Amino acid sequence: MYPGSFDPVTYGHLNIIERSLQIFDRVVVAVLDNPSKQTLFTMEERMHMIRESTAQCHGVDVDSFQGLLMDYMANREACVVVRGLRAVSDFEYEFQMALMNRKLNRKVQTIFLLPSLKYIFTSSSIIKQVTRFGGNAAEFVPPVVCRMLKEKFGKIPARGNVRPETLNNPE
Ligand code: ADP
Repeated sequence: MYPGSFDPVTYGHLNIIERSLQIFDRVVVAVLDNPSKQTLFTMEERMHMIRESTAQCHGVDVDSFQGLLMDYMANREACVVVRGLRAVSDFEYEFQMALMNRKLNRKVQTIFLLPSLKYIFTSSSIIKQVTRFGGNAAEFVPPVVCRMLKEKFGKIPARGNVRPETLNNPE
């Protein structure tokens, strides 16, 4: 289970999904529907962008959930949470969440995967900030996300939408 807001999905997230598929046959990308958090993209938009950018990956299921991740995982009979770790700044929050989830359900394990070095500083929020003011994010988000950011902000955020190989990168 790879949970998150994915507002929007980036190559950093996709790098983690690809790495998860090297370990697991199936990965559920679970988009959190959190009414108290304002998102740029609707749930349908976020799921559409993930579906389109993982269309070539076998074993990816995209779903949404509300409430406690541990309840949702019990319903889906999933037992491993995958999270991505970027810089040290992710660590404290992720550590807290993982320990709390362990308290809620001892049978669920959390594993942390590192993205390629190239994506270590990529975040959905920095992508939104940059593209809001017309910056180019094509290196960090898939073409469908570039298109939808452009529609949202009414600007041209990207050119040359070629998806780089993430896994063949020795970093
Ligand atoms: P949240 O709102 O729960 O932080 P996100 O959608 O931002 O969710 O991220 C989901 C997960 O993906 C988190 O574990 C986050 O640390 C991880 N993640 C986000 N961007 C990257 C990246 N560039 N590289 C590796 N992991 C990432």
